[in-house]
Amino acid sequence: MSRILVVEDESHIAQGLRFNLEAEGHAVEIAGSGEDALQRLLEKNAPFDLMLLDVMLPGKDGFTVATELRKRQNFIPILMLTARGRPEDVLHGFESGADDYLPKPFNLDILVARVGGLLRRKNWLQNAPEAAPPPADEFSFAGKTVDFQKLQLHNHGQVFQLTVMETELLRYLIRNTGRPVARKEILEKVWDLKEDTDTRAIDNFIVRLRRYIEKDPTQPKHLLTVRGLGYQFVAEPEQQK
Ligand code: CA
Repeated sequence: MSRILVVEDESHIAQGLRFNLEAEGHAVEIAGSGEDALQRLLEKNAPFDLMLLDVMLPGKDGFTVATELRKRQNFIPILMLTARGRPEDVLHGFESGADDYLPKPFNLDILVARVGGLLRRKNWLQNAPEAAPPPADEFSFAGKTVDFQKLQLHNHGQVFQLTVMETELLRYLIRNTGRPVARKEILEKVWDLKEDTDTRAIDNFIVRLRRYIEKDPTQPKHLLTVRGLGYQFVAEPEQQK
């Protein structure tokens, strides 16, 4: 059973979410505002496995809530509920640290599936390594190690905590080492997004990963930009001529 925090001020939507998620066997609590959610997660340290976060909230909006959580080193998986037809919301959501998003109004079956997907990834990564497909739980390159279970990147003695989707993106690029991977392919394979999404959302994840991985993020050696296409992971750049 997973514990889910639903952050939504419109009570009929919140109750509908609670009903459907409880029917799936999850335990659900509702926070009516961003401030309420932050207090539970940061001050009371309440243990939740996932947060459903509406963007449109009174007081602090969903973007602010996600940003504050990440700033305070809280890496709970966040599924953000954005307004339909606003790609800038999606972009902003990823920038602020959301792991996935769903436009409102949403189809409840899709929402339940997305929640299940994020929870499964979290469990694969953290609790059940035997259920995880290869590669192994760790990958080392050029003095750095990605720990896929603990969602950590170790870089010469420094430890960076990653979000679920940062880890999944890194895993995908590492699996495809040496091959340029298109942004659209990344959205499909990592985020399971087939709809027409602004693929620039990926770029913000790359910017964050470069901060953890690259000695000089403006001169990347591992996470290379392939102009007009996407990105390519290089494990040992010094061996390349
Ligand atoms: Ca709302």
